[in-house]
Amino acid sequence: MSGNKAYLGFDIGGTKIAVCIGSGDGKIVASERIVNAEREPGDVMDQMVSAAKGLMSSQGITDKDISAIGIGAPGPLDIEAGVMYASPNMKKWDNIPIVDFISGKFRPKVHLDNDANAGALAEWLFGAGRGRKNMVYLTMSTGIGGGIIAEGKLVRGRDLLAGEMGHIVLDPDGPACGCGLRGCYEAFCGGKSVAQRIMSDLGQQPDHPMMKLAGGDRSKIGYPILIEGVRMKNGYALSLWDDICLRNAQALGGFMNILNPEMIVLGTIALAAGNLLLDPVKKLLPRFAWPQMIKDVEIRPSELGNKIGEYSAISVAAYYGRGA
Ligand SMILES: [Zn+2]
Repeated sequence: MSGNKAYLGFDIGGTKIAVCIGSGDGKIVASERIVNAEREPGDVMDQMVSAAKGLMSSQGITDKDISAIGIGAPGPLDIEAGVMYASPNMKKWDNIPIVDFISGKFRPKVHLDNDANAGALAEWLFGAGRGRKNMVYLTMSTGIGGGIIAEGKLVRGRDLLAGEMGHIVLDPDGPACGCGLRGCYEAFCGGKSVAQRIMSDLGQQPDHPMMKLAGGDRSKIGYPILIEGVRMKNGYALSLWDDICLRNAQALGGFMNILNPEMIVLGTIALAAGNLLLDPVKKLLPRFAWPQMIKDVEIRPSELGNKIGEYSAISVAAYYGRGA
């Protein structure tokens, strides 16, 4: 690889961290995954640096061949200070000055953003939203994170907190959300909330057909068995699914009326469910958005799929590195 066009990226997640090198035109040329779960952050961070240096030497490049370094990390973050704070999946990563640490090991400038904004940048620069000017991205996984591209820019907000689309309140009397509010979009449709709802409805009924689908594996209770149950036309699953589709349409319809996007890109759950989710949501949209908003919007699953972490980190480097 030649020219001053490479990017170095770190995608930090609760279980795994991806370290990767990307070319300016959006190709991941080398990557490595590091186990994070339950380990000490100091050890993991040292390994991130040695993995990055190993990848650079395998590509025959040095610091001077790298335009910028990007880090995508779960919140809460102090993006301006470059500091990570503890989250439920990363309890040990509290008050970690990740940007200073990485800056101390490499010469190029280091940029940090949260994983949802980083995902939005990835789908926009290198995935489904290439060439679009107005796009919304939703992570749709354990929780629901969002990133907004408006008029060709990532929307950041005064305190760099914009895009928390999972936490718009759809029903003030709805279920409690992990954020402290009640009835958030995430509290209805996030993976963790859906798992909790199934457990509270069926946890005492081990012989229920839905619980049998999990086969005793608690990690499957949630979207995995729900999607299977809907495909099998189980009554409980179908009624919960109707609810989830309605809440998704309510949220997406709201985003459409506010932002008039060309495209809405949906992550993990939409990838797993496909048209099982998208078709009913699209059918329900006219209840929540104007026809002229719905007419030209494309709603689709993520194009980058399980590679989005790598692309996210590279996209943070590419977007902020070019002086956005
Ligand atoms: Zn919330």
